[in-house]
Amino acid sequence: MELKPIRQSFSVQYEYQLFFTQGLFQIGNSILLDVLKSYKKEAPIKLLFIIDNGVSEAHPELVNQIRRYCDLNSNHLIHTQSILVDGGEQVKNKTECVEQVLKGINEYAICRHSFVVVIGGGAVIDMVGYAAAIAHRGVKLIRIPTTVLSQNDAAVGVKNSINAFGKKNFLGTFATPFAIINDSDFLKTLEQRDWISGIAEAIKVALIKDKEFFAYIAENASALKARKMDAMQYVIYKCAEMHMQHISQGGDPFESGSSRPLDFGHWAAHKLEHMTNYELRHGEAVAKGIALDITYAQLIGLISQEELQHILDVLLAIGFDITLPIQEEEIDALLKGIEEFREHLGGQLTITLISGIGKKHDVHEISLEIMKQAIEKLKAYAILK
Ligand code: NAD
Repeated sequence: MELKPIRQSFSVQYEYQLFFTQGLFQIGNSILLDVLKSYKKEAPIKLLFIIDNGVSEAHPELVNQIRRYCDLNSNHLIHTQSILVDGGEQVKNKTECVEQVLKGINEYAICRHSFVVVIGGGAVIDMVGYAAAIAHRGVKLIRIPTTVLSQNDAAVGVKNSINAFGKKNFLGTFATPFAIINDSDFLKTLEQRDWISGIAEAIKVALIKDKEFFAYIAENASALKARKMDAMQYVIYKCAEMHMQHISQGGDPFESGSSRPLDFGHWAAHKLEHMTNYELRHGEAVAKGIALDITYAQLIGLISQEELQHILDVLLAIGFDITLPIQEEEIDALLKGIEEFREHLGGQLTITLISGIGKKHDVHEISLEIMKQAIEKLKAYAILK
């Protein structure tokens, strides 16, 4: 008897919103409540909060505020617990943190009709997103990002992860959040390095897609450095919108192809983060990665010396350090990042460069000799400045 293959085909529509607010847990701010009410359910909804320790230290009243907010809305919400987790990249480097979140989900009986609400920087958002995606094969997640980088990039997309085997984002899932809420009040307590570092992702997306957005960043470099909130709000809004549009309209939301333009500058960034034992913030490493890849782009004739210099000057004006924190003998180790980058996605090597400001240009081969020259050229430029 011949058994014919059984064909299976269905599609699922994904939809989520990114909200903007201030004072999210103040009495009278109904955004979180409204978001939860949009998930139609008769009984009150159970919430488990997971909070970045760095955020709760900078906002010591936060845990009480959350409890008060939930108590006042107890017809709709049940606050089970607020669990504090370490902040920063180390949270992605050890499985204990994922286990801590999974234990909380188990202990407080968070099911697929309950919500995990994560409040923190990109690293905590990534780690908790991963835990939420694997518990019960996926419980609902609301992300409340608290850094520039998480508000304009890490929290607005579909990827969750932790690091393993010395590699960034080795373990992870594609899982969409229920909603994201950006509260700009959180940004006020960021260290200067975290305020600046997220701008790297905005520069990245502007360089590959939008000349005018890059011009805005260039014109407002000093305002951004000086923590002018209006300028930062615009940069976050525009950057988040471009990331979300790329995911929904770029034709490959779950990255099954070989190209990932949103990772422009990232092959070196991921390797540098690892090589510096994550002393570098992700955004700081991305700025260095962009600086290196545009220097390479200039050496192979894709962009002019003037364009290169202009972009490097904008990075410097915002306050980025564009030197590479590696010794001569570590250059080969850095270059291994190119193959690791390919391996993460599989398929043909595809490195996104630019052929002008706002113009993405993919290449499938990188000359290691010219990349070494780019490292030297960037070093000389940084010394000069
Ligand atoms: P981070 O999460 O490492 O946070 C940096 C520091 O800021 C931490 O010490 C944290 O405790 C502290 N902090 C957070 N919010 C604060 C606040 N409001 N006030 C004071 N301190 C605060 O850094 P990040 O730049 O937000 O995130 C980087 C991570 O994001 C990396 O792991 C990167 O791989 C990931 N990422 C993920 C995606 C994705 O699509 N999933 C995209 C880009 C980046």
